[in-house]
Amino acid sequence: MSTVKKDQPPLREVIAKHDLKAKKSLGQHFLLDLNITRRLVREAGDLTGITAIEIGPGPGGLTRALMESPAKNIVAIEKDDRFITALAPLCEDGRVRIIHADALEIDPATITPAPRAILANLPYNVGTLLLVNWLQRAQDYEFFALMFQKEVAERITAKVDSKAYGRLSVLCQFCCDVEYAFTIPARAFTPPPKIDSAVVVLRPKKAPYPVSVEALEAVTKDAFGQRRKMLRSIFKGKLSEEQFEAIGIRPEARAEELSVEDFIKLTKAMR
Ligand code: SAM
Repeated sequence: MSTVKKDQPPLREVIAKHDLKAKKSLGQHFLLDLNITRRLVREAGDLTGITAIEIGPGPGGLTRALMESPAKNIVAIEKDDRFITALAPLCEDGRVRIIHADALEIDPATITPAPRAILANLPYNVGTLLLVNWLQRAQDYEFFALMFQKEVAERITAKVDSKAYGRLSVLCQFCCDVEYAFTIPARAFTPPPKIDSAVVVLRPKKAPYPVSVEALEAVTKDAFGQRRKMLRSIFKGKLSEEQFEAIGIRPEARAEELSVEDFIKLTKAMR
């Protein structure tokens, strides 16, 4: 494992020198404790030979932890131009590339070589949207190690028939094996957000998907759009009682009672 050059100034100094006051509109809550950013990288898995993509490096705490890993390259995409100059010294390492762009407008898989993985302390306001975009081509990635608000992490990893189980759970668990890695208390961030955060690791399934992500999303949208309604009435005119019976799903069941496997059956039957 390589180490970050000893002469990197402390993150607090970088923030003070470049006057990097956190902007709420860009979901900026910085992690200045390298023990936490190192843990995220460690729990993600082996980065040997992998291009690590970071979204929103900010002052560079997680970027530094990535530089200590055996990642082949590190590509960090940051929207806020104030950080671009502050991050420039990290590029001297030779493996780091900083891209000044909006991550919502870039498909990371088209600008990086495989194998690749995304690791990030995501901006809260667009975190879920980014993940859903990446999952459209999940198999382009080795894994995702992502920090979200705790409540979002719980939705991603929720089990069937639990309160947090919904569209996001089904989509994530259809595409990936998911793991709730660890919780980070709000006080660990500068400035602290109102709620705790958590890291989730998602590993895309290797086998071809039994139905398309798009088709599955359409079915979950209908099913969870009217969560309290029975499937029979949601899919009226689309699926007969006999079809429900053939796939072993009770027509009076509600969306939250269906496992990911059930949603696959439902999507196949709908074709
Ligand atoms: N990675 C840093 C850390 O852990 O200290 C900062 C994390 S902060 C929660 C989110 C970062 O994402 C900020 O640096 C913010 O400017 C950046 N960001 C917000 N929206 C973005 C977008 N659409 N595209 C790229 N970066 C974005």
